[in-house]
Amino acid sequence: MNNLDFIPFSKPSLNEEEEKAVLNVMRSGWLTTAKETLEFEKEFAQYISSPFCLAVNSNTSGLQLAMEACGIKEGTKILTTPYTFISTATSAIHLNADVVYADIEKDTYSIDANEIEKKLKTEKNIKAIVPVHIAGNLCNMNDINYLAKKYGVYVIEDAAHSFPSKTKNGFAGTLGDIGVFSFYATKTMTTAEGGMIATKDKELAKRMSTLRMHGIDRNVWDRYTSKKSSWAYDVIDAGYKFNLPDILSAMGRVQLKKSQIFFEKRKNIAKQYNDAFSSCNFLELPPDNIGNAWHLYLLRIKREVCKISRDDFADMLQKNGIGISVHFIPHFYFTYWKNRGLNAKDFPNAQRQFEKTISIPLWPDMTQEMIDKVISSVIKIGKN
Ligand SMILES: *Cc1c(COP(=O)(O)O)cnc(C)c1O
Repeated sequence: MNNLDFIPFSKPSLNEEEEKAVLNVMRSGWLTTAKETLEFEKEFAQYISSPFCLAVNSNTSGLQLAMEACGIKEGTKILTTPYTFISTATSAIHLNADVVYADIEKDTYSIDANEIEKKLKTEKNIKAIVPVHIAGNLCNMNDINYLAKKYGVYVIEDAAHSFPSKTKNGFAGTLGDIGVFSFYATKTMTTAEGGMIATKDKELAKRMSTLRMHGIDRNVWDRYTSKKSSWAYDVIDAGYKFNLPDILSAMGRVQLKKSQIFFEKRKNIAKQYNDAFSSCNFLELPPDNIGNAWHLYLLRIKREVCKISRDDFADMLQKNGIGISVHFIPHFYFTYWKNRGLNAKDFPNAQRQFEKTISIPLWPDMTQEMIDKVISSVIKIGKN
């Protein structure tokens, strides 16, 4: 735990409370989606003040359900950013739809509202904008919602990084038509694998709920507990198998209770990094809008001052025992997307940010010694 030889890039914060909750489910004899998941959904919905919350087995499957419910299918398109994890876009590909990309803002990692409007004006059949709150730093949702209304398209927030970000208009993930959270192991709270969909729209919720479980019109728990025969159900469409099992929801319920503490700890670490790095002329601090969840700390290396590349800087950090990552490799660098005609030169801002960005460790259980070591290593490498 206090080993300073190698500080991992990320580590989930779990203890006996999660162990006990999971064990209780194992011993109950009911492992898959039922009571625990219903409670988890209820508690999550209450936490973010969203009328409908649906637990799913990943953010990726949640995005696919959200897109399907918004009418994304063959002949339609989503509009998103190349600066995100790959599944933000592939969810649309699996629905036989197409993806249009808009570049990010010059100095942040957020999709640029001006670029969004350009694409909405020129590209036909865009049905949804999918903004991503990279690192927990919120996109300009006011502008995005305004444009969505103006052009009659849905807004699906990829909120994989932004729990529990909050603005005066509500939590990230509740600011558009649908929001999708991730509980993957590295995210701000975890169920190992898992996700949550939030929406205010009853019809969208109903559609996603049905498709989540094989297109069956009754959930499993209802089948086994209600007075109607347990074997009787109808299938109203070709659905998916995207439900979150109770054994994971039990972990999620405990994590949800701790999420404010995790958030405070993340903020504290980010503040220490900001304070230490603000006086370094070879570094640029991460963008920080109101309500930042600080899922990641995106450190930007000023190439002009530093004289070494991001890759060399990252290598040296790793040699110093600091786990790092790079978020994200923009989609236009991937073979699949190049083959589909995506070209890096159309996204100068995403290219520029990618070339100078390193993610450094930021997780709730980091000790003060670890934080200090990350800071001193970054400064030492930069100064040399
Ligand atoms: C992690 C992540 C996802 C995918 O989440 P899963 O729960 O692993 O499917 C989607 N989008 C972004 C931006 C992510 O970081």
